[in-house]
Amino acid sequence: MKKYKRILLKLSGESLMGEQNYGIDSSRLNDYAEQIAELSKSGIEIGIVIGGGNIFRGLSGAAKGFDRVNGDQMGMLATTINSLALNSALKNQGIKSKMLTAIRMEPVGEYYSKGKAVEALANGEVVIISGGTGNPYFTTDTASALRGIEIEADIMLKGTRVDGIYSADPEKFPDATKYEKISFDEIYKKNLKIMDLTATTLCKENNLPVMVFNMDKKGNLAKVLNGENIGTIVYN
Ligand code: UDP
Repeated sequence: MKKYKRILLKLSGESLMGEQNYGIDSSRLNDYAEQIAELSKSGIEIGIVIGGGNIFRGLSGAAKGFDRVNGDQMGMLATTINSLALNSALKNQGIKSKMLTAIRMEPVGEYYSKGKAVEALANGEVVIISGGTGNPYFTTDTASALRGIEIEADIMLKGTRVDGIYSADPEKFPDATKYEKISFDEIYKKNLKIMDLTATTLCKENNLPVMVFNMDKKGNLAKVLNGENIGTIVYN
């Protein structure tokens, strides 16, 4: 018996770079696709939102002189590029998957609606929801929270390159300690930066728990679904 029936998986665009400085590392992409395929075959309903930071970020575009809204639109299109890559990698694994877009761009993908997403999930398809929220000034963490709530996921799984939430940045402070679980209120109080505040608040107000875990260790996604707390759970 798996712990969750329907999940929203957030993958970071940066992780897709693997060891590269930019773009998509095909071995990392295939590693993700294999982990997702294994879960999908076991009957878990999987919605996915991917970031775009491996290709373009609105804020860094604005720093170079681009209009912020245009920069954010470029960032949203970057998430669509990553989503197309994952969609293709999943199909190579023999998995039925569907990519929806938050901004209309048929025939690249069908325009997102909750109804389409839920119907595809119920048909056993993996659903990748690309284009962020479709609006500038948001992030894909916020898009994941929003889509997770909309599709009524049991949990949002935030795949990162660290094992969970630490008392301080473990890449800078080696003696930082890891939380097994932590409440949303403590996240605010301790000013821990796991996601932006908009995303955190959406999850808190709509009671969507979040698990932060290391997606880059093969087999970790299956462990989470088997009920192993290998990361940090954030709850109300
Ligand atoms: N973005 C946006 N609206 C959204 C989601 C993303 O404008 O709803 C843009 C924003 O410019 C962001 C980029 O897409 O920098 C990539 O998204 P991601 O969440 O990966 O950004 P990061 O947190 O890495 O900046």
